[in-house]
Amino acid sequence: MRILDWQFGCLTNKELRKSMCLVPLLLASPTFADDQSQPPSQHSPINTAETPMFVSLGFDDNNDADGLKWVLETLSQYQNPKGADKHANKPLSASFFMLCGLSRGNAEVLTLWRQAAQAGHDIGNHTETHPDDKVNWNPLESWMTAEQWQEEVSHCNELLKASVDDGGVGASSVNGFRAPFLTYDDDTLNALVANGIRYDASFPAGITAEHDGTNNFWPHTLHNGSPEHDLAVNQGWKPAISAFPLWQIPMHTLIVPPDALMEKYGLPYSLRDKIAKNVPWFDFVSGKGDNFDWNLYSEPAWGAAGLSGDDVFAIYAYNLDLRLSGNKAPLALGLHSAFYGLVNGQEPIGMPGSTVETRRAALERFIEYALSKPDVRFVSHIELVDWMHSPEPMTLCPSSEWDVYKTYQKGDSVSYQGKDYVAKWWTTQQIPGLYENSPWEEIEACTVSPI
Ligand SMILES: [Zn+2]
Repeated sequence: MRILDWQFGCLTNKELRKSMCLVPLLLASPTFADDQSQPPSQHSPINTAETPMFVSLGFDDNNDADGLKWVLETLSQYQNPKGADKHANKPLSASFFMLCGLSRGNAEVLTLWRQAAQAGHDIGNHTETHPDDKVNWNPLESWMTAEQWQEEVSHCNELLKASVDDGGVGASSVNGFRAPFLTYDDDTLNALVANGIRYDASFPAGITAEHDGTNNFWPHTLHNGSPEHDLAVNQGWKPAISAFPLWQIPMHTLIVPPDALMEKYGLPYSLRDKIAKNVPWFDFVSGKGDNFDWNLYSEPAWGAAGLSGDDVFAIYAYNLDLRLSGNKAPLALGLHSAFYGLVNGQEPIGMPGSTVETRRAALERFIEYALSKPDVRFVSHIELVDWMHSPEPMTLCPSSEWDVYKTYQKGDSVSYQGKDYVAKWWTTQQIPGLYENSPWEEIEACTVSPI
C-alpha cells in the first residue's frame, strides 16, 4: 500500500525519474503504517478533555557545541507532570534536525549528537549542506534537481544512521526532516519518502484569519495535501505539491499577546507595538508573528523582531494558554540550539535584544511555566506522530483526597491513605483500595519520586 502510494506520488510528478522511483521499492520499511491517510483536522483524535497538551520543541542545525550541550542538559533536568499515561513522569524529549555537513569530523559535536540519540531524542535530517533551493529568492523557482535533493537527504542520513564504531551517530532511525529556509517542493518530499523519513516539519500554518490559536490543525498526512500549504500556494509564495505518504507537523504562526494581557505575561509595554515598529509587515490586528526563534530574536535590520527573552517567554506562554483553552492542538516550536550557547567563545551575533543568558532564562521559564500545567507533555515530533497513530488518553495524577460525598466519573483520580487511584467507571461512596473489582484502580506511576 505504501509502495503504491509512493508510486502514485512519483508518477504524478511532472517528470518521471526512474532512479528516484526505484529506490523506495528497495527501502520501503514495513515497520510502520504511514500508508494510512490521516486528513487535516482541527480536532484531537480523542476527547479533548482526555488529550494531553503536547509541547514539541524542534532544534535546527545543532553545529555549535556550547548551545547544544546546554539544551540537552536542560531537557534532562526536567520531567513531565505526573500521570499514568506513557509520557507522564518522563524526562523531556525533543527533536533535533541535524545539518550534517558542517559537523562531519567535529568530534565534540558528534559526541553530543550521539548523546542526544542515546537519551531518546528524535534525530532528524536538516540536509547535508543547507541549500537554499530558490533562484533570486523566488520561492516558486528552484535550482535543485531531484537527484540533488536525494543526495542532500541520503548523505546526511548515512552519517546519522552509521554506527558509532564507523564514525556515525548511531541513530536507530531517522524519522523527521526540516527543510533549510523552509524551502521545499515535490523533489524534496520525494527524497524524504525515498529515504524512509516519516514526517516533515517545514510547512507554514495558522495563517488564515479563522485560526486564532485555539483551533489549529493537528499533525496530519499529506495524502490529501495540506489546506495551509494550499493557501500559501494561492497567495503565490509556495509551489504546488503532490500527494505524499508523509506526516506533517504544521509550524503554526505564534500569536503575540494583545495589550490587555501584557500584565498577565509580565511585560509593562505593548509587545504588538514593539514588534510593529521593528517588522513593517507585522499585522497588529491579528497579532500573528513567526514561530521560529530566529525571527523573534534576530535584529530588525535582518527583517526580524529583535525581541528580548522576556518578550519571547510571553509569546510562548500565551500560545500555550490559547491551545489549553481551545482544541489542545500541539504547540510545536522552531528553535536553534546555537542561540543557547556561545559560538567560538562569543555571543552569537545579530540578536540585539537578548543574550545567551536571557535566552536560556526565557526557555527555562517557559518550560517551567508549561510544566506547571498538569496536562502538558513535552514530546519529540516523532512521539507526536506515534501518538496520532495510537492516541492514548491522558491520566492525570490526583490533586485531591477521595471524598465520600462526591461522585466521580471515569478517568477521575484521587488520593486515599497515601495511595493514588483512577476511577474505571462512574462511582460514588466506594472506598478506594478496599474491594476486589473496585471501580478504583491504583495508579503507581503517580508516586514516582522526582529526579
Ligand atoms: Zn537551518
